[in-house]
Amino acid sequence: MAHHDLLIIGAGSGNSIIGPEHDDWDVAIAEPWSFGGTCMNRGCIPSKMLVHAADLALSARRAPALGVHTTFQRADWHAIRNRIFGRIDPIAAAGLEYRHSLANVTVYEHSARFTGERTVDLAGQEVTAERIVVAAGARTVVPDVPGLAGTPFRTSDDVMRLDDLPERLVILGGGFIAAEMAHVFDGLGSRVSIVHRGDMLLRGADEDVRRCLTDTYVDRMDVHLGTTITELDHDGTYEILLSDGSTLRADQLLVATGRRPNGDLLEVDRAGIAVDERGYVTTDSHLRTTAEGVWALGDVTNPRQLKHTANAEARIVAHNLTDPDDLRSVDRRFTPHAVFGHPQIGSVGYTEQQLVDAGRPYLVATRHYADTAYGWAMEDTTGFAKVLADPDTRLLLGAHIVGPQAPTLIQQLIQGIAVGLTVDRMAHDQLYIHPAMPELVEQALLDL
Ligand SMILES: Cc1cc2nc3c(=O)[nH]c(=O)nc-3n(C[C@H](O)[C@H](O)[C@H](O)COP(=O)(O)OP(=O)(O)OC[C@H]3O[C@@H](n4cnc5c(N)ncnc54)[C@H](O)[C@@H]3O)c2cc1C
Repeated sequence: MAHHDLLIIGAGSGNSIIGPEHDDWDVAIAEPWSFGGTCMNRGCIPSKMLVHAADLALSARRAPALGVHTTFQRADWHAIRNRIFGRIDPIAAAGLEYRHSLANVTVYEHSARFTGERTVDLAGQEVTAERIVVAAGARTVVPDVPGLAGTPFRTSDDVMRLDDLPERLVILGGGFIAAEMAHVFDGLGSRVSIVHRGDMLLRGADEDVRRCLTDTYVDRMDVHLGTTITELDHDGTYEILLSDGSTLRADQLLVATGRRPNGDLLEVDRAGIAVDERGYVTTDSHLRTTAEGVWALGDVTNPRQLKHTANAEARIVAHNLTDPDDLRSVDRRFTPHAVFGHPQIGSVGYTEQQLVDAGRPYLVATRHYADTAYGWAMEDTTGFAKVLADPDTRLLLGAHIVGPQAPTLIQQLIQGIAVGLTVDRMAHDQLYIHPAMPELVEQALLDL
């Protein structure tokens, strides 16, 4: 039976744990799929490369309104897809090859399944380790939709690698993956329909942000809100009956109704690793699970399911493994996130609704892009920055930006909130370049 000093399950964020400090450790890593995990192979990176292409296509369509005579002719999907994965796939392959090349690292190209305390099964081989890191991520939820079982459909795992750009694409779901993929495919020329059971897209986001994004998408695409699929037929193309009485015909169906953690597939319960009611592996603040010597990080533990949190957690686990007398902790107080749809969204801290629900007093200010110099120059008509602050301490409680470059603009507010600056200090203790877009943030803060 193989025994290792350290076994890492999952070569997404988990792969980054292995460093020179482990040169005299016997390390193993299990990954049945591509090195680099979801983010690089089928998540953040290819989706943003597609978003960039869709942004360019949309700009070409919209520039004539500003007197620039461009037209959008067509997207060469094969060229775009091949360029994207022609860059990504070699990185995954090189990551695997590199790990194989290290004398102290064993790579198991199989799924791990716990069979007991710090013991896993890897394709029939029993492997034990002094320490195990569970970094096995999450997978797409397949909803209970009439006719879906037995019908082929796409998920975010494969939709970015389609053979052809679909003429008609139906997206089931209304979260960030649905919003980003709708922008991508609509931008590149597909006719996109969104079917979402909620009354607005992006559940969990600030209500004003949700309204802005939803209204924009309703203007741009065929959006069915408060609607479910009642019947689904597929004979090469899809015929989809909706609860609002309409019928959609489509060449591809993308199911984007959420993601669930992979702990159940790992049978973590056999190793004494506790999960919460939604199946997330529970950890303490040092990322130790309930099983001695077993650590966990990333999407398998964290419902926010973000790469920057997984990266930060991997750094903490890496430190804690080698320095157990000086354990570091995760800080989950303010976790920012972005949505790269069109408009873009950047968000940190509480939403206004959360503050209302908590009965917590707050100040709120909203500044529109159109009311700032650069936003006015761009003739943006929908975007805004909304800031929420504590009336007594004048610390920022939340910030939500929707519009051009929102994920970049929000970063200075993330910094302010993280280091505990008052909104007054954020607004007054620095000069904002005129007429650059961060003036949007400055003016929202000054309005508080
Ligand atoms: C379409 C899409 C777009 C996204 N965009 C963004 C974004 O813009 N910004 C952002 O912050 N986040 C984004 N995310 C989320 C981000 O990709 C994840 O939060 C991040 O990849 C989580 O890292 P992880 O290491 O926890 O999991 P993963 O990267 O999923 O790695 C887990 C690895 O474990 C492997 N594995 C699973 N089961 C086993 C097993 N039994 N044995 C061994 N190995 C196993 C998997 O094959 C996988 O490679 C996106 C996700 C998707 C799907």
